[in-house]
Amino acid sequence: MFLEITKDDEWGKMKALALMSGGLDSTLATRMILDQGLQVEAINFVSPFCLCEKGGCGAVGVAKKFDIPLKVVSVGKEYLKIIRKPKHGYGRNMNPCIDCRIFMLRRAKKYAKEVGASFIFTGEVLGERPMSQHRQALEIIEREAGLKGKILRPLSARILPRTEAEEKGWISRERLLDIQGRSRKRQIETARELNITDYPCPAGGCLLTYKEFADKLKDLFEHKKRVTLEDVFLLKVGRHFRFEENKIVVGRNESENKILLQSKAKNDYCFEAQECGSPITLLQGQKEGKAVKVAASLTAYYSDQKTGKVSVKFNDGNMEKLMLVSIPSKEEVEKLRIP
Ligand code: SF4
Repeated sequence: MFLEITKDDEWGKMKALALMSGGLDSTLATRMILDQGLQVEAINFVSPFCLCEKGGCGAVGVAKKFDIPLKVVSVGKEYLKIIRKPKHGYGRNMNPCIDCRIFMLRRAKKYAKEVGASFIFTGEVLGERPMSQHRQALEIIEREAGLKGKILRPLSARILPRTEAEEKGWISRERLLDIQGRSRKRQIETARELNITDYPCPAGGCLLTYKEFADKLKDLFEHKKRVTLEDVFLLKVGRHFRFEENKIVVGRNESENKILLQSKAKNDYCFEAQECGSPITLLQGQKEGKAVKVAASLTAYYSDQKTGKVSVKFNDGNMEKLMLVSIPSKEEVEKLRIP
């Protein structure tokens, strides 16, 4: 079914741009387009919500394997604005998938122009994702990205309207697929057929789809007008608590303690229990007496001292101070926890 191409065969008259996540679907889509004899370049978006450890995710490995150029784009402030107020709303948690796809495809469109790609293709599968991959959503995304008829989805192309690439004969529709729905069975079979064995980044590697993270992000948006990428990064570290307008983050281990110390802004206070194993606690926001006491108590709760009063050291930006606090009850701690 699929032709093998080698570098020597790459006559490359037509170029296509792959929106590549590095997961199975976009890997298969790329392979299918390469197998039709086109030149392919790829673009990958890295957001602060990606679950992959390294930038570029599995896309780097896939691009290397296929020997195609890859552009890795880190999205920042502009992307945060979309997350905060998505025109098309959220999915089950804080994932504004339709707006997110529009955002990425708009960027991809610009890049396609730069590299001379005639169309864009993606690994999307009709009906695979509830929010962004049903027929109507695909249409909205195309229209609002200014790419109507210009996005090819090789895995579902035969059950979707013909795109420009098919109409103009750049791509053979007959050699594209008609996959639909959430089962990954056909993709796995096709991967086997194409001898694609390693696809490191499984679908759904986005923190916005996780309830626990979404609750923390929602709390951040509710309490802070200007959210920075550093604020978002901090949501991935430690246990999070809200006391009135104060945010309190307690480290869970040595490496989180280090990160919290490094993340401390000028106005933040840092807490540490004395003469016992202790987490580092960060207090953000207005520092009224009560908030300082709550942060010290949370530090005491997670310290190794389990009875009596705990001596907690904190730094108010000018000098170090000591506070003697009681260990709060589990119920008191849980009341403050986000979510
Ligand atoms: S899951 Fe996350 S990265 Fe994927 S489309 Fe939705 S918001 Fe964007």
